[in-house]
Amino acid sequence: MKGKEESRVDWKMETLPHSKQMDSSSCGVLVLKFAKHYLMSGEVTRVLSTPEAIGLQRTEIACELLEHQSNADDYCVVCSMLEADPESSMIEMVQCEFCLRWAHFGCAQYESSLVKYLCDKCA
Ligand SMILES: [Zn+2]
Ligand SMILES: [Zn+2]
Repeated sequence: MKGKEESRVDWKMETLPHSKQMDSSSCGVLVLKFAKHYLMSGEVTRVLSTPEAIGLQRTEIACELLEHQSNADDYCVVCSMLEADPESSMIEMVQCEFCLRWAHFGCAQYESSLVKYLCDKCA
């Protein structure tokens, strides 16, 4: 039981100084920006919550998502993972004829390379 005691963590609750949400729809934007700022600098005081600042932050988040969008195309359209089995060095995937996204053979229940594949969303 000694090991269990050593791994115990005592959480400490703390409220950092921060801007208050000024509307009923910007909580998602603020949570993302608070998390990013906290991880980068350990504080969140520079995250602004004025309507103008929230608008800019929404655009920044959208641009960041679009920038990294291509990475998502490599992931299996069924299980959303890159490798179904991390132990397996050979990953066999099949491409949807319509949306061009990829799916693991297993996830797609794909049997023959002679058959065209359509993912569940396109079928
Ligand atoms: Zn999969
Ligand atoms: Zn598809």
